[in-house]
Amino acid sequence: MLDEPLPLALDIRKAATRGTGVSGVLKPAQLLRFRALLAGDEGRVEATLSCARDEQDRYIVCVVLEADVTVTCQRCLEAMPLHIASDNTLAVVWTDEQAAALPRHLDPLIVEETACKLHEVVEDELILAMPQFSYHDSAHCKEKISAYAGPAPEQEADAGKSNPFDVLAQLKAGDEHQES
Ligand SMILES: [Zn+2]
Repeated sequence: MLDEPLPLALDIRKAATRGTGVSGVLKPAQLLRFRALLAGDEGRVEATLSCARDEQDRYIVCVVLEADVTVTCQRCLEAMPLHIASDNTLAVVWTDEQAAALPRHLDPLIVEETACKLHEVVEDELILAMPQFSYHDSAHCKEKISAYAGPAPEQEADAGKSNPFDVLAQLKAGDEHQES
């Protein structure tokens, strides 16, 4: 298990030329955009970034992440543990055109300065890997699924019947009756 903190920045071109990388640990509180999606500060993120040059002479970074964090169950709104595992390959690019020209298995990593901000790279990958909604297993969830079944079909049919035009029609019928 890793326990060194992940460095803040890395010169990816240098690391790719040497075929080296970095790895380390981050806390959710260090990643504000990611933290905003979580239920609390607890948890940890392990990141390994391996740099290389590919056969097209591109600068490549493989980002492997394992995270254990706490999120909110969208059914019962209680906290629940979430494990995130992600493995993505990025290619360093400098322009949007270069990004668009990448093959499908490579995602662009736009590097504006020599030193690539590793925490931002990790944070972007974590956010991409987050499930859109998280739910407890039904056995662990405080809210039973049946409580969320919508209105019974009969009720819906009744609601459909009482529309304002029906009421108007009844009134009109009543008026005609009184006049005659
Ligand atoms: Zn739940």
